[in-house]
Amino acid sequence: MAYDNDNIFAKILRGEIPCDKVFEDEHALAFRDINPQAPLHVLVIPKGAYVNMDDFSAQGSDAEIAGFIRAVGQVARELGIVDAGFRTLANNGPDAHQEVPHLHVHIFAGRDLGRMIKNFKD
Ligand code: AMP
Repeated sequence: MAYDNDNIFAKILRGEIPCDKVFEDEHALAFRDINPQAPLHVLVIPKGAYVNMDDFSAQGSDAEIAGFIRAVGQVARELGIVDAGFRTLANNGPDAHQEVPHLHVHIFAGRDLGRMIKNFKD
């Protein structure tokens, strides 16, 4: 899948639309989700133009990948959610209902988050 330069997170990265930023460094930007699904719901995105985890893991440089993963951990520490616990999640493609075609890791926290995923037999 080709990267769409007009996706909403590309516009946020270019500063064309605002976000509620919680963290930024060379490799990543983190901001609050506009439609939170938990008391704390933050998105962490790489600064590079990557559609999803498949694209990023195959095409991203070692520095970008290391920087991004370190940013996810730093965001969690700075938000003070490590001890209570938090969930990271990345939707990739149609079956996962990925809405925005720029890789993003959701961080959910602030309550008991329940089971990981609905059982496929339910
Ligand atoms: P996904 O289904 O994994 O692609 O999730 C996309 C997420 O982006 C959803 O949780 C949306 O609420 C969130 N979102 C969409 N537009 C914005 C925006 N402008 N600022 C913050 N979050 C957004």
